[in-house]
Amino acid sequence: MLQPLIEESKVKAVRKLLEENDRIVITCHMSPDGDAVGSSLGLMHTLSKIGKDVHVVTPDRIPDSLRCLPGAKEIVPYSKYTDFASKLLREAEVIFCLDFNALYRVDRMSDALASATAKKVLVDHHENPEDFADIIISYPRQSSTCALLFRLLCRLELFGMIGRKAATCIYTGMMTDTGNFSYNSNDPDLYVIIAELIRKGINKDEIYKKVMDTKSLNVLKLHSYAIANMRVFEEQKAALITLSAEELKKFNYRKGDTEGLVNVPLSIPGIIYSVFIREDEREIKISSRSKGDLRVNDICEKFFNGGGHINASGGELNCSLEEAVDIFMLTLPEVERQLLDKLKQK
Ligand code: 5GP
Ligand code: MN
Repeated sequence: MLQPLIEESKVKAVRKLLEENDRIVITCHMSPDGDAVGSSLGLMHTLSKIGKDVHVVTPDRIPDSLRCLPGAKEIVPYSKYTDFASKLLREAEVIFCLDFNALYRVDRMSDALASATAKKVLVDHHENPEDFADIIISYPRQSSTCALLFRLLCRLELFGMIGRKAATCIYTGMMTDTGNFSYNSNDPDLYVIIAELIRKGINKDEIYKKVMDTKSLNVLKLHSYAIANMRVFEEQKAALITLSAEELKKFNYRKGDTEGLVNVPLSIPGIIYSVFIREDEREIKISSRSKGDLRVNDICEKFFNGGGHINASGGELNCSLEEAVDIFMLTLPEVERQLLDKLKQK
């Protein structure tokens, strides 16, 4: 049995919105991951079952690894179908904002989202949500938006409406945001939810295989190359992986191909801070992971124009790869400072 987590007043407010409105848009953050797409499609399937007119609009396209999710074909990427996506946002009565805490996280779609007159419902697990939604359901201690969404659907008395398709999508986000339940995964309630999703007919082994354990030869070679060139900074318990645009091209890089790479250095005993810097078309993308108390969200906020969770964050820079590496070097004293502060507190 799950103990209630979400405040009753918020549940009531969402229930009222669903009773009074039919045209619903669901959206999530740019470069959507398993949790963003999983929660969006999970909610789409469930609300479709109760007769709502629902569309999922993502800021940009979803990675290939998530195309196997039921309903993925129905997603409308704003970057590709800007006019249609804008119309959906404009005409929506309710917009669910899933797995992001600030308007800038939807990139070029932020104006269209901000100016939409629909009532907005935020369901998310990032710290410090911005005040852009009418109802804010934010629980940063939840390991995924998908787990939080499951709880919300139960409280809305929609548990019975969660079918196999929705369950598959919800499981996907729970799995990807915990590295297949290898971090942030000690909450026993997670396994209560998983048991319910299995009863709904999901094949968890197949979802893992398709979403997290399918890599082309090119991708495996790209990962091996990147790992072989990793730099380790033992004193700061840190590791850095970089990939330039030229290197990515050599391996026929496609969006999503470097997924999981940033976690690899944390396998080394003693390494607690990992950074991956990728030279994308438009900017330099940073991904960061940590173990324990090291707050990479603070580091990403301060140095990389980003943020995220304590142990998994990211950011973006508009500079050269070399300059980004210089900025990474500036984070090392900050890491040492955080570690010293923690030692003093203990
Ligand atoms: P990833 O490293 O997998 O791209 O992202 C890990 C987490 O970091 C995401 O779930 C998200 O919370 C956060 N994140 C990634 N990129 C950015 C960014 O550019 N800005 C902010 N604020 N957060 C980011
Ligand atoms: Mn998430």
